[in-house]
Amino acid sequence: MIKFADPSAQYRSYKKRIDAAINRVLESEKYILGEEVEKLEDEFARYIGTSNAIGVANGTDAIEISLRALEIGVGDEVITVSHTAVATVAAIEAAGAKPVLVDVDPRFFTLDPKKLSEVLSKKTKAIILVHLYGNSGDIEGTSAFCKKNNLYLIEDVSQAHGAKWKDRRLGSIGEIGCFSCFPTKNLGAIGDAGLITTNNEEIAKKIFMLREYGWKERVSQIIGRNSRLDEIQAAILRIKLEYLDEDNKKRKILAQEYDSILSSNIVTPEVRKQTSHVYHLYVVQLDQRDRVLDYLKQQNIIAGIHYPLAVHQQPAYLNRLKTSKTLVITENLTKDIISLPIYPELPLSKVEQVANLVNKVS
Ligand SMILES: *Cc1c(COP(=O)(O)O)cnc(C)c1O
Repeated sequence: MIKFADPSAQYRSYKKRIDAAINRVLESEKYILGEEVEKLEDEFARYIGTSNAIGVANGTDAIEISLRALEIGVGDEVITVSHTAVATVAAIEAAGAKPVLVDVDPRFFTLDPKKLSEVLSKKTKAIILVHLYGNSGDIEGTSAFCKKNNLYLIEDVSQAHGAKWKDRRLGSIGEIGCFSCFPTKNLGAIGDAGLITTNNEEIAKKIFMLREYGWKERVSQIIGRNSRLDEIQAAILRIKLEYLDEDNKKRKILAQEYDSILSSNIVTPEVRKQTSHVYHLYVVQLDQRDRVLDYLKQQNIIAGIHYPLAVHQQPAYLNRLKTSKTLVITENLTKDIISLPIYPELPLSKVEQVANLVNKVS
């Protein structure tokens, strides 16, 4: 069986070190917010190139807490896309704010800055730019709009750990960067985990408080929550962080193999200028997507769809969110995209096999 992602294969790659790290935590005095979390925060901040990184419980919390730290909540609007993980939109509502969804551009499937003026209002406070599938969103266009209208730029980097825009890592460009470390992500824990990055010292201090009841020296100064990161996950992430660039390189080699084999009627991923792509997912567009999906399944190859329904099309969100005039590109995308298997441990020969089967059937 070939799956589109396989976090257990990655565990096996680093098993000795991961097992030793888990044991180290088990034998230690502290299981939550101890030395491992602190070291991970230092190492991740250095890696991303920000002065601060803060560990939290998951990627959804990373976004919610970031909004709260910027004092965005009830009565405020936050613009993002509908072609994303539900988490991006759920986090905005969890903070009390109103998500406003704009269409994506047809080449990179990320937020189209040209649509922003359609939805801008006096209530707009921030834009969450989702770096999709491992490639950067339109940083120039989005940050120019933010500057002009005095809005915060928040990066959702949950699918692009390690990717760069020019010589900067994604997550170091906006006011705040939010990362999920769900097991399948490029930097994945063996459970839930999240990280927040920022160069703003005031905001960082507030985020450290917000993740633990608004505490300062164990007294609640502001209204907070519990979104702590545990030591075992932090210890695992520290090991995987050491290999992140190498693992991203392996993903790139696999992506290039797909690029070279897939026939020209299949639309392969385009890499945005001046950015690097870390291929969290390898998403192609093709005709008769469902037929291809079924055929691959018969051959024991489990491809994915990211996403089969845009957020605004799902029952919990249907007909109640403010959006740009249309979301037509977003809606059409759901019908013809397919995520082919890609993860660092996947052998090149399997990529060849999958690509040839896709060519044959499409
Ligand atoms: C995975 C993901 C999240 C949410 O992460 P969780 O850790 O599952 O809460 C947020 N945004 C995007 C774009 C994601 O891919």
